[in-house]
Amino acid sequence: MALDPQQQAAYLDAMGIQVWAVRGAVPAAGVAPPGPAGERPAGDDGIASLDWPALQAAVAACTRCELCRSRTRTVFGVGDPKARWLVIGEAPGVEEDRQGEPFVGRAGQLLDAMLKAVGLARGQVYITNILKCRPPDNRDPHADEAASCAPYLQRQIELVNPALILAVGRVAAQNLLHSDQPIGKLRGQVHRYGPAGIPLVATYHPAYLLRSPAEKRKAWLDLQLAQRTVQGLG
Ligand code: URA
Repeated sequence: MALDPQQQAAYLDAMGIQVWAVRGAVPAAGVAPPGPAGERPAGDDGIASLDWPALQAAVAACTRCELCRSRTRTVFGVGDPKARWLVIGEAPGVEEDRQGEPFVGRAGQLLDAMLKAVGLARGQVYITNILKCRPPDNRDPHADEAASCAPYLQRQIELVNPALILAVGRVAAQNLLHSDQPIGKLRGQVHRYGPAGIPLVATYHPAYLLRSPAEKRKAWLDLQLAQRTVQGLG
């Protein structure tokens, strides 16, 4: 969806970004070579063949890791199951755990504003997380938890079959790219995910942007890169 400049300025304003005119070309995207990221996780218990309802039911009943003991609800994902943009965050927070929907807290409101800035309503993308259950005290996901959850995410990626994956935050980017590089290094370029080579753009997590609003401009550059990447495919 093309936005007129005034509309876009309003959405950018909602993101809290004051200076938005991008003069000249944005640097060309570096394309990382396809790597092991996106290969089918081991021990997937038949998850790879599930359809949407069966996958959702499997997540709701999941006991693959310890987080099943402390969760209130699983948080599967939300949005258009055939979306061109697949947004992947880290893990449910306290509000998401309560409501069973990803990105519904303050960070979620900023994510909505970021998507609106590129002309996308929440319902036009698909949003999910690396983990489907909330880690206690909002700690980072442990590696074994991410590994246990990976078959669900892998199947979601296959079913959505997006034109682009937007990885929001360090945890999402590092897990999806099998990298330990900081998010500042992973953002700003187009990576490739999985055997199909789905373009993947990483950006800052909206919760981080709420704490560090000066970085919103870089997030805006990432969103523009993602938008151009999707348009280039279309
Ligand atoms: N942060 C995330 O990464 N995901 C959510 O769903 C909410 C907050």
